[in-house]
Amino acid sequence: MTQNQQFPPSGDIYASRQRLIYCAQQNILKHAISNDLGGHGDNFDALVKAHLSLGKQCQDSGLILSINAHLWGSIFPLILYGSEQQKQQWLPALLSAEMIGGHAITEPQAGSDINTIETHAIPTDSGVVLNGHKRFITNTPIADVLLIYAKLAGKLTAFLVKKTDAGAYFTDSPNVTGCATATMGDIILQDCHIPFDRQLGKTGAGGMMIQSALELERAFIFAGISGIMQWQLEQVIQFSRKRQVNGAHLGANQAISHKIAEMKCRLETCLLWINECARLKDAGKRISLTSAQTKLFASEAFLQSSLDATHIMGANGLITENKMTTLVQDALASRLFSGSSEIQKNIIAALLGTGAGFKSRK
Ligand SMILES: Cc1cc2nc3c(=O)[nH]c(=O)nc-3n(C[C@H](O)[C@H](O)[C@H](O)COP(=O)(O)OP(=O)(O)OC[C@H]3O[C@@H](n4cnc5c(N)ncnc54)[C@H](O)[C@@H]3O)c2cc1C
Repeated sequence: MTQNQQFPPSGDIYASRQRLIYCAQQNILKHAISNDLGGHGDNFDALVKAHLSLGKQCQDSGLILSINAHLWGSIFPLILYGSEQQKQQWLPALLSAEMIGGHAITEPQAGSDINTIETHAIPTDSGVVLNGHKRFITNTPIADVLLIYAKLAGKLTAFLVKKTDAGAYFTDSPNVTGCATATMGDIILQDCHIPFDRQLGKTGAGGMMIQSALELERAFIFAGISGIMQWQLEQVIQFSRKRQVNGAHLGANQAISHKIAEMKCRLETCLLWINECARLKDAGKRISLTSAQTKLFASEAFLQSSLDATHIMGANGLITENKMTTLVQDALASRLFSGSSEIQKNIIAALLGTGAGFKSRK
């Protein structure tokens, strides 16, 4: 992204779709993807730099979430697990955002624990019939296709379901607070018949595919959000210089300047973690532990810095246009998406050979 891009205005579902398409036109979706698949042929380091710049310019965590759901939820699973024919069929439209995607794992009774997923697929002569209910799925109201995880013969398996498939209902409810511009919704599947070629990956590969998608999401979603945190820090510094209290600028109070120093340290630590994920991916190494640590640290840092920024600005921090309270809400949501902070701690402990085991996905 170049400086001072003009984003389409945010607002309703149509606007959310337009903003994602605009990012695709700025080539944001093609990093860390090889040329032969229609990507830039660059690496994760380039992806981090581009997303950081995007976040700083758009200051919209919902847009960042939407892009990441599209990337790690549909584009990368196709790259990693799709057949040649599936890649040719789906990737060009997803990379240009002519089609918008995402992934549907969560259900009303199955959040952190994917073992309780109830959505199921029954084989027929020509494909499978899906029945079930997915909840809190990013991009659902604007999506054309979603990767739905369902049990086939009791084994977790991934299926590409289109909005236009008979028996698939992509809704725009329930409304949630946080990352509101991302749009989210439930998916109801009622005898939804899809052909065989919509299965992505092998039967029973769903659990591994979820892990790989979430590892990438945890590692890189905070690249864009760190850009927003950079903007947030600049706003607070400017405010603390201008605002006069007892004959001096606000930042002259150590209680304020120390909060700002802490915000800076949190931001830089987030960037160190994210860049370490990029370095490991670019070296062909695993990121299971590092991505969980990154997600845990960055989401907690985002929340604390958003609370600090709001407080430093006093009542001005509560003015809606100043975005600070919106960022607090976004940060609360960020501690849940891609797996909650508690689940990241479970993963870290399990990978250290302790804790309750590695049964939860998130
Ligand atoms: C903004 C947003 C976007 C989302 N987008 C998507 C999406 O695109 N696709 C998708 O599939 N899902 C999505 N989700 C759902 C998200 O993955 C779940 O919210 C998350 O996995 C937690 O599940 P839950 O909300 O049902 O909470 P629960 O699993 O019911 O957990 C409730 C609380 O208990 C804690 N908890 C649960 N299990 C444990 C444990 N074993 N040890 C310690 N504490 C535990 C949790 O940390 C949490 O605080 C999204 C959520 C949000 C907020």
